[in-house]
Amino acid sequence: MAGSGDTRADWVHVDVMDAHFVPNLTLGLPVVKALLKSTDVPIDCHLMIDDPDRWAIGYAEAGAYNVTVHAEAAADPRRLAADLRAAGAKAGLSIKPNTPLEPWVEVLRHYDTLLIMSVEPGFGGQKFMPEVLDKVRAARQLVDTGHLTVLIEIDGGINEDTIVQAAEAGVDCFVAGSAVYSADDPAAAVADLRARAVAHRGG
Ligand code: ZN
Repeated sequence: MAGSGDTRADWVHVDVMDAHFVPNLTLGLPVVKALLKSTDVPIDCHLMIDDPDRWAIGYAEAGAYNVTVHAEAAADPRRLAADLRAAGAKAGLSIKPNTPLEPWVEVLRHYDTLLIMSVEPGFGGQKFMPEVLDKVRAARQLVDTGHLTVLIEIDGGINEDTIVQAAEAGVDCFVAGSAVYSADDPAAAVADLRARAVAHRGG
């Protein structure tokens, strides 16, 4: 994470939804390819899609920095991680709010990032679910004791208040949607969120 006061986000988080895994449709690979051409900020693709074993590799080959698939949707997440890394991307595994962490710990040894959803995936603007922080604390402990090497990412309902709770629980990367894009000054919102995360970094 860059120094506090930095108004530029570290990554651009792109939510890909297919109207199957989640009841909403956003964008797909052609739009991600256009984004990759228009920015040098690393792109963090969050694939809320069915059959990521088939589709995720295209995002890695296109040049996404990190490609995150859902544990609930992947048929062979271990192989998928290897394929994503072989294509030059980091591999991310996401779990929905009601998906426990424990069954995925072994698989996560093959991943670079763990994305813990703090809302039900599908729509922006939802309220943060603080109960997922127990999973964040458990993951933080696994990282701090050397059992996992993932960056812990949180996604859903992150704002100036919930980012403090998430940072204290041990999150490394914070996805902010409405808190940035609905702000009068998005750059100032990024700087403010970053400062709060840095000040409350726990774990
Ligand atoms: Zn997302």
